[in-house]
Amino acid sequence: MGKRVMICPKCKSRDVSPDLSLGAYGSGTLFNSFKCNKCGYTGQFFIELDEEELRKMKK
Ligand SMILES: [Zn+2]
Repeated sequence: MGKRVMICPKCKSRDVSPDLSLGAYGSGTLFNSFKCNKCGYTGQFFIELDEEELRKMKK
């Protein structure tokens, strides 16, 4: 199994980080939301793949 990576469902970018701007901080849901740094998409439904799956997808 490879390393798990999050990708943006909109633009497929791997430049995704936890979204800390929703006031979730301290409520126990800190990592429920993510933000794409490339297209600005935020949401809870980011795609999680391991690096092998990601490599296959790019072909
Ligand atoms: Zn994106």
